[in-house]
Amino acid sequence: MANIFCIANQKGGVGKTTTAVNLAAGLAGHQQRVLLVDLDPQGNATMGSGIEKSTLKSSIYQVLIGQATVEDSVLPCESAGYDVLPASRDLAGAEIELVDFEEREQRLKHALAIVGDNYDFILIDCPPALSLLTLNGLCAADGVIVPMQCEYFALEGLSDLVNTIKQVHANLNPSLTIIGLLRVMFDPRMTLQQQVSDQLLAHFGDKVFNTIIPRNVRLAEAPSYGMPGVAFDKTSRGAKAYLDFGAEMIQRIQQVK
Ligand code: ATP
Ligand code: MG
Repeated sequence: MANIFCIANQKGGVGKTTTAVNLAAGLAGHQQRVLLVDLDPQGNATMGSGIEKSTLKSSIYQVLIGQATVEDSVLPCESAGYDVLPASRDLAGAEIELVDFEEREQRLKHALAIVGDNYDFILIDCPPALSLLTLNGLCAADGVIVPMQCEYFALEGLSDLVNTIKQVHANLNPSLTIIGLLRVMFDPRMTLQQQVSDQLLAHFGDKVFNTIIPRNVRLAEAPSYGMPGVAFDKTSRGAKAYLDFGAEMIQRIQQVK
């Protein structure tokens, strides 16, 4: 059965999708079988994997409302060698439509159960909200990866996310834990970032991943070519960091087992 992880942070623009897409590519680069689930109506992980949103026959929206299976809807990311369960705008409607379903927060978990044995890792890219979609991600996952920028307000937002994860753990998904906090878009020349990074280590100890993702323009350029940074420019510092992060994730999983 695959290890299932959510990439979540309710703050917008903190690097969730960049992490989801490049960790998927990084893990695939280490010969892991990976499914990337796009759980955000923005569809950024879909486009960033080179899949055109407007041509989809079915997507995660149809999967969540029971009109298609995951197997029907999965497409390959050709440049990096992982599978994608894509999303498009209509996913925004699922938020309202799902309200009438029984066990509405467990829809994704049930849908993924069928393909769990086909993959080593399933990564879920969450939208920037603590919404019913994110709740579906948290109920389906064994753990959460939290990308964060080392800035002043980052720690404040973190407590809301930690509380939500605790509630989901207590009421809906007892196997859910925070796997780790990932420092992203890091610029070591900025004293404030170093200070916040030190605070993170003091508060969260080994819950902070060793790998640090630097601010790197190649990672930001890659989506416009429909590729993860890891495939777009293997030699860039950003790509190397995400490959290292893939190796660190594989190691962490082995320690837990
Ligand atoms: P949203 O909350 O809207 O889903 P997000 O948390 O998924 O956003 P991203 O889309 O991954 O965030 O990143 C936000 C922006 O920052 C993008 O333009 C992305 O290219 C850029 N970015 C992310 N990580 C890096 C990095 N390490 N170096 C440089 N730019 C980055
Ligand atoms: Mg995103």
